[in-house]
Amino acid sequence: MTDKTSTRCLKVLALLPRFIENDFTPEEAEEIRAHLAACPSCLAEYEAMRGLVDTLESLPNIGVPPSFKDAVMRHLPPSKDPEDS
Ligand SMILES: [Zn+2]
Repeated sequence: MTDKTSTRCLKVLALLPRFIENDFTPEEAEEIRAHLAACPSCLAEYEAMRGLVDTLESLPNIGVPPSFKDAVMRHLPPSKDPEDS
């Protein structure tokens, strides 16, 4: 049961990082909200992603292991505004 992700799921998952950062169009928000209401797996992904973002933002100096950081980065787009310059 690994290849059951629908095209719509892939699209929604691709939009989630921007959705979490409040960077989306009204049409995208509508589609994402409608899909999350109907798709438990995407909803779980959204909540996990949002939880990671909240954790990282509230604990900026946390010493995360590389594997955890990799997992987070796979879910997030490249930073548009690097903070460690
Ligand atoms: Zn889905």
